[in-house]
Amino acid sequence: MSTVLDLVRPDLRDFAGYGSARSERLQGRIWLNANESAWRNPADAADACRRYPEPQPPALIDALARLYGCAPERLLVGRGSDEAIDLLVRALCVPGRDAVLATPPVFGMYAVCARLQGAPLLEVPLREDDIGFDVDLDAIGTAALERGARIVFLCSPSNPTGGAIAPARVAALARRLLGRALVVVDEAYAEYSSMPSATGLLPAMPNLAVLRTLSKAHALAGARIGVLLGDPALIAVLRRCQAPYPVPAPCAALALEGLSPPAQQATAERVALVRRERGRMAAALAALPCVRRAYPSQGNFLLVRFQDADTAFGKLLAAGVVVRDQRAAPALADALRITIGSPGQNDAVLAALRPARPAASAGGAAAAGVRT
Ligand SMILES: *Cc1c(COP(=O)(O)O)cnc(C)c1O
Repeated sequence: MSTVLDLVRPDLRDFAGYGSARSERLQGRIWLNANESAWRNPADAADACRRYPEPQPPALIDALARLYGCAPERLLVGRGSDEAIDLLVRALCVPGRDAVLATPPVFGMYAVCARLQGAPLLEVPLREDDIGFDVDLDAIGTAALERGARIVFLCSPSNPTGGAIAPARVAALARRLLGRALVVVDEAYAEYSSMPSATGLLPAMPNLAVLRTLSKAHALAGARIGVLLGDPALIAVLRRCQAPYPVPAPCAALALEGLSPPAQQATAERVALVRRERGRMAAALAALPCVRRAYPSQGNFLLVRFQDADTAFGKLLAAGVVVRDQRAAPALADALRITIGSPGQNDAVLAALRPARPAASAGGAAAAGVRT
């Protein structure tokens, strides 16, 4: 029977990793085993940082397991989901042989990590139709099988295109690739989405993993806390490949505090506000003469095509508003990605993009009336 360990690099399957002082589970009163200082730094009033932290802080692991509704042994915490992407590619792909599959236009880290590992990159572009961008799961499955993908990265909701993938479709792909590839669903924006999470599929699907993060909806990007959820055997391997103390003590403490019931309540309220603002902005942007298309989004951002993206970018910048230029992606040469901000920030976006003469009748003429 195939297990997820068959997908791990053969040379790492029984790799023990670094045996840190913390992981040796000894008992004692006087700790002189890790060359730490006996005295705190004067700046460290709470004495929180004198000792090396727990490699996987148990209280934080428990809180995250509750948050995502999974067993603690299915969870790896690290420095953002970016670290988990890197770890997966390094642990599963033999350089020069096992490929990484990504679906451009999409978040760039999958390709970056493949490049760093020397893993071939397979690209199966998203398809665009009247509804928006979507993954071509038949083509993805075929390319993965025929061209040797070891990891397939799906982004749902997808950055920057905003579409989400139904769990049943993810499950069908994972079944097709069982024993051949790991399917990873990057759910960095799941909190903003109406689509159910793929985490519910995990117990039944050993070759599925899900990425979550506290960086976006939980407003803790600076704390660098991300999570990989997957088969316990895969998690155990990745823990051994990970840096010895990946979660700084102040970050673990802050994350724990950030998942307290009152903090989660505040997070839920802000997510609801962002979703309302997303609807308002999508409609308002679509009505502007300079906008060709505003895509529906399940994330906290909108992908917008402009008549002239350069001009729109410049107008926003002149108003002090910085958005993400998407023009490096061939399919998005006329597009910008605009994060949903506070209502006032969103109004600033609309004000900067409105035609110079509010009473202008012809849309095209108004769009051309650029103030510089
Ligand atoms: C922002 C983002 C991440 C990075 O998350 P971190 O947890 O901060 O590393 C991962 N995936 C996608 C799709 C993102 O947009």
